[in-house]
Amino acid sequence: METRPTLTIDRLVAELNALAKISQAEPPIVTRVVFSEADLRARAYVKDLCHDASLEVHEDAIGNTFARWHGTESHLAPIGTGSHIDAIPNAGLYDGCVGVLGGLEAIRVLQQLGFKPRRSIELVIFTAEEPTRFGIGCLGSRMIGGALSPGQAVALRDKEGHTLEELRSNSGFRGSLDSVALARGRFHQFVELHIEQGPLLEQEGIDVGLVTHIAAPASMRILIEGEGGHAGGKLMPGRKDALAAAAELILTLEAAAKSTGVIDTVGTVGVCEVFPGAVNSIPSRVRLETDIRDIDAARRDTVIEKLKTACEEVVQRRGVSVKTEMINADPPATCDPTILDAMEQAAKAAGKTYQRMVSRAYHDSLFMARIAPIAMLFIPCRGGVSHRPDEYASPEWIGSGVHVLARTLATLAS
Ligand SMILES: [Zn+2]
Repeated sequence: METRPTLTIDRLVAELNALAKISQAEPPIVTRVVFSEADLRARAYVKDLCHDASLEVHEDAIGNTFARWHGTESHLAPIGTGSHIDAIPNAGLYDGCVGVLGGLEAIRVLQQLGFKPRRSIELVIFTAEEPTRFGIGCLGSRMIGGALSPGQAVALRDKEGHTLEELRSNSGFRGSLDSVALARGRFHQFVELHIEQGPLLEQEGIDVGLVTHIAAPASMRILIEGEGGHAGGKLMPGRKDALAAAAELILTLEAAAKSTGVIDTVGTVGVCEVFPGAVNSIPSRVRLETDIRDIDAARRDTVIEKLKTACEEVVQRRGVSVKTEMINADPPATCDPTILDAMEQAAKAAGKTYQRMVSRAYHDSLFMARIAPIAMLFIPCRGGVSHRPDEYASPEWIGSGVHVLARTLATLAS
């Protein structure tokens, strides 16, 4: 199989740039919040390209879009590839879009080479990977994987109070949400091309990353209730300072995450709200929000358990009350060895350098892993920068990713 990278990459880069101009903000800033006018126009643009490539397009009730290139044995479960085209406010043009338009380009290259897939190859454009509108990431893939029930989805609202039901219906997605979840076996395998959103590949001058695991966050909210009072009048003995208690818990989390001895365990307290927040007032109430990630669910759980134990100790010792609440705890995903092997052979055949690596951010593939064997293919992005207008991946990097993806899809669909 020979590809002609210069020709196809010019087309793909032109399409990425055209898609970037469909934005709620002035170019080069990309802002494309789900179900906004820009999101709907961007969807229409991508669907037109899919029709031009003779793919059969259909959408589900939440707007996930499936574009199928029929294989010679089209009754078999297809090979999936794809990503998302929604973008957080003030974003760049590569996150997600490289996986969607790059996936389409891989299909078109195979078509042009006269390749006939045995299994169908299906491009998927997931609805709302970004949590901007509804406060929950990977809305579309989460529902496909059954990790968010139709009942939970119906309860979602945006900050203006518009319900998901109202917004999807106004966007033309009207079927029952019960039909969004897909059964295991609906896809034979799924592979997502994505920018790394970290600096490693660029630093080491490596063309592609073969993702072996996707780390997943567990978020816990901790509410600490102490006793307020005058910072001068109330003496140290007998104080119930909620922030001093919180400080102990923050340090406990840091120590617990380090204590696994594994670089893949990370723990962060990103939110610390102090009430009343006055310099001369003892903090009476603190809200912490924690993000604990790992590629191993059991190891991640040991960190959570240590933190919960520390909460109980702090209650005993300081006389404060502590309430914990798990906001979410999605299981991490392990990538499929067969797909990893196919990607490695593809990289070798394409003459590209590669390394196995972990995805520290999570992606739609994390939820596809609930219904299919998955893997991800990373390409470098300049300085590891993402979620900013200066996010950048060179045409050469994108070309390498598409080349390896095309060969991988060809192997998996044969
Ligand atoms: Zn993304």
